[in-house]
Amino acid sequence: MSRDTATDELAGCESVGELLTRRRELLSAGITMAALGVSGCLGGGGGAQTATEPPQTDEEGHEEELPEGVSEEAFESGPVPEVYQRAKSLGGEERNPDDVMAKADVNFSEFDEAQEIDAHGSGECCANCADYIADKNGDTFGACAEVGGYIDGADWCTVYETIPEPSVPEGMSEDELATAEVPGEYRTATSQGDEERDPDDLRSQEDVNLTESAEAIGEETAQPGQSCGNCADFIPDKNGDGWGACAEVEGHIASEDWCVVWEQTGEEH
Ligand code: SF4
Ligand code: SF4
Repeated sequence: MSRDTATDELAGCESVGELLTRRRELLSAGITMAALGVSGCLGGGGGAQTATEPPQTDEEGHEEELPEGVSEEAFESGPVPEVYQRAKSLGGEERNPDDVMAKADVNFSEFDEAQEIDAHGSGECCANCADYIADKNGDTFGACAEVGGYIDGADWCTVYETIPEPSVPEGMSEDELATAEVPGEYRTATSQGDEERDPDDLRSQEDVNLTESAEAIGEETAQPGQSCGNCADFIPDKNGDGWGACAEVEGHIASEDWCVVWEQTGEEH
């Protein structure tokens, strides 16, 4: 398929879901969204993107671009960089580098392959798993509290665990979570992608289609590997109640959520 034909076909897509489906088909045909110059058209506003390019693979199926200076062996089985060795996962579990499983023992797979596995639930991927440790050193890969080696948010394994939904804070109702002012320590905090939150310049959760990551990925609104937990705008929990905040969106935000403003943490913006 030529680029012109592909561009015409994408221009004819009426919904994000349809566009994402066509995107996958075009990628299979070796035509990238970047090549078509339409990578930004999926965003819901705010100059962000809802889709990222999956890693390209060579003839043997290996990712072509490992993080700089990382061997294939280290990528597969570790060790991971120091910053991850004893880091806490999205679900609050501390990683023990002497007690992690091998990828081969947990059916570790990329999202597309995982969909063929019976145990895989709709929309499940590392980015919305309680054991995931999101990128901390700018290479976009994270780590896992249970499995060794480098982990991409769009991977999955049989140890997958749903992140428990935080309890509604005392004195607040569930309906208020989306719009209530966040505690003082979050109001002008800096996100994990170094963006300072401006409480007077935020979008509503409704406006950005905030929903749960697994649900959005399952419905193909979000790409595999996207959750608030690995978004550049996310401000992780600071007071132990399980809730975080966002530099772009108002209200209480959980790491397993997702919205159309999602941006990969670790990428240069
Ligand atoms: S799905 Fe598996 S590899 Fe991925 S973060 Fe969860 S436990 Fe780790
Ligand atoms: S942290 Fe979540 S709510 Fe905020 S921009 Fe990112 S995906 Fe959206």
